[in-house]
Amino acid sequence: DNNGDMSDEVVHSNPYSRLMALKRMGIVNNYEKIRKLCITIVGIGGVGSVAAEMLVRCGIGKIILFDYDQVEWSNMNRLFYQPRHIGLSKVEAAGLTLSSINPDVIIETHHMDITKVETYEFFLDSLETSGLTFGHPVDMVLSCVDNFEARMAINSACNEKNITWFESGVAENAVSGHIQMIVPGKTACFACAPPLMVSAGIDEKSIKKEGVCAASLPTTMGIISGFLVQNALKKLLQFGKVSDYLGYMALTDFFPTMTLKPNPFCQDNYCKIRQDEYKLNEKQQPPDNCEP
Ligand code: ATP
Ligand code: ZN
Repeated sequence: DNNGDMSDEVVHSNPYSRLMALKRMGIVNNYEKIRKLCITIVGIGGVGSVAAEMLVRCGIGKIILFDYDQVEWSNMNRLFYQPRHIGLSKVEAAGLTLSSINPDVIIETHHMDITKVETYEFFLDSLETSGLTFGHPVDMVLSCVDNFEARMAINSACNEKNITWFESGVAENAVSGHIQMIVPGKTACFACAPPLMVSAGIDEKSIKKEGVCAASLPTTMGIISGFLVQNALKKLLQFGKVSDYLGYMALTDFFPTMTLKPNPFCQDNYCKIRQDEYKLNEKQQPPDNCEP
């Protein structure tokens, strides 16, 4: 194949040249933009850790990791963590592994629960100022948490700071999952279209019983991580089409997609503000304007 002006030796010793081939092949016009991007990942468990590794191997500029948990034996059926990490906080273990995979990436870690009053403020502030250039916002948030409260906290924060984020989830039976892109004001936020469980008034804690073990498969989690990062890259590097929602049903190999419009009666005030801004912005665009 044609490697341009690079010698074979350079091509085979440099992982970036394999990524830059995406540009030569016309898939991504501006791949080097990835070096300028900063992504925050909340939840460094079965999905978040693998998503972080993918971004680090892609040469992202900076990642910021939030998680309150420690690595345990019960995590060993998933990808990424190893027995030598048991007892370390997930963010510390992830930081060590990720920086050894690609020392060029700036990795910031926070061992904290983002839903507490004090830490939520810190999280908000971090979204607004901890981008690659100090004082600038992060470019995107990936939610890889496993509970409603944490998702709602990410939702409020991203609506307030006007940051695009992806929600992700894997079912407790391990055979289905989804990703959902949330562009404040443009697509439904997490509070616009609450999951069925919430709208039916069922308390999540009554389903997630302490000590009762949920199923989990490294396969499903790996697939959802791949969907998540693939779509995050498509959105940030502007290639292909990003689905608002992409589901995965492992038992039937069914991948539903849908478009989710925001709810004008959403409970989140910042969501309504972003919806008004979006409508105003749309009116000011020439009618034949297409998105890239
Ligand atoms: P399991 O519950 O099946 O034992 P897990 O707790 O590792 O596994 P995952 O679904 O693999 O769950 O990952 C979700 C991750 O999100 C966990 O590492 C958890 O610590 C993290 N998380 C959940 N809520 C918060 C929160 N409020 N703040 C920070 N991290 C959170
Ligand atoms: Zn909303």
